Amino acid sequence: MTHPERPCKLCKKMFTGKETKIFCSPICKADYHFKLKRVTNDAARSIDKILHRNRSTLLEIMGKNSSQKKVDRSLLDQKKFNWHYVTSYHLNSANKMVNYVYDFSWMLFSDQEVLIKRIRRLSDEAE
Ligand SMILES: [Zn+2]
Repeated sequence: MTHPERPCKLCKKMFTGKETKIFCSPICKADYHFKLKRVTNDAARSIDKILHRNRSTLLEIMGKNSSQKKVDRSLLDQKKFNWHYVTSYHLNSANKMVNYVYDFSWMLFSDQEVLIKRIRRLSDEAE
């Protein structure tokens, strides 16, 4: 059985080998995955930063002992909370949007108050 010649996915050099092979060498394969990981890390880093910051803001407002708190929206705005970044969301039984930032949730009411809830108490949370 002959294997057709084709270009390496990374260096574009022509090579032959098993059909499942897409790189000319283990070096190109490792280099490709290293670069892929780096661009993914770079892209994710800025969004991770916003989400981590949002969580810190919610934690700061809540304090370590409360499980829920209602505050004015302006407090979160003052702390530069980014309303566009959440880890997930869902509509509750009252058809209100519940937004999650990791283990916290927040819900915005028409009176511009925000209900913040802690979803679960992490045992390894910093004291
Ligand atoms: Zn190559």
